[in-house]
Amino acid sequence: MEEKARQPWRATLLTIFPEMFPGPLGLSLAGRALEEGIWSLDAVDIRGFALDRHRSVDDSPFGGGAGMVMRPDVLDAAIRGTPAPGPLVYMTPRGRTLDQVLVRELAAGPGVKVLCGRFEGVDQRVLDAHGALEVSVGDFVLSGGEPAALVMLDAIVRLLPGVIGTADSLAEESFEWGLLEYPHYTRPQTWEGRAVPEVLLSGHHEKIRAWRKRQAEDITRQRRPDLWDRYLGAKNVSEG
Ligand code: SAH
Repeated sequence: MEEKARQPWRATLLTIFPEMFPGPLGLSLAGRALEEGIWSLDAVDIRGFALDRHRSVDDSPFGGGAGMVMRPDVLDAAIRGTPAPGPLVYMTPRGRTLDQVLVRELAAGPGVKVLCGRFEGVDQRVLDAHGALEVSVGDFVLSGGEPAALVMLDAIVRLLPGVIGTADSLAEESFEWGLLEYPHYTRPQTWEGRAVPEVLLSGHHEKIRAWRKRQAEDITRQRRPDLWDRYLGAKNVSEG
């Protein structure tokens, strides 16, 4: 029997700069996966849905203030006029901070439709009307949603089946155990007077595992008390 081809995971971008895509996602792992049809990308120009001959997508804010706001009627036309699978995600500093849990959730679905804001942002009503999932890539302000969308898509695409060769290299990464990753070493064995930790040369797999886990715990406790507390909580639940 012929194996049924898997549908590609679909990224659909709504943007006024479609030429920013695939950009860096056209290279390396993500680029190869795109060529192989593991995922697909459509960047749709919001200006194509503008209602006037100047193709304007923004207007000045009610209530005054600096900058321009993207119009709800134009954005709604772009959203409705672009049927695509998956939730509608709006990139915004006000959103839920992107983390590996959300990345895994989105990777497990059929795709995402991503609205990239520009100017001061978008009219609130269009987000409310479509129940958009608001996602931030961190506590800083970018000049547009496109680089944030590239970050989110990069994190998703590498989890799609067949993109990264070994499942092992995903299983041991930062955040997969709720911990930051242990340090890595490669040749030369001694570099500028700095030796590789002895245990890694021992060939003793159990000891190496224990050492790496200890390192991951130490670095998480020192750098990210928030993750450390959550890790301890989860450990107590699973052991209690
Ligand atoms: N006035 C807004 C910032 C506008 S920045 C505010 O103070 O929150 C312009 C666009 O860039 C936003 O509409 C959003 O789509 C995107 N953006 C900026 N920073 C972002 C971040 N940290 N995460 C996700 N998207 C971001």
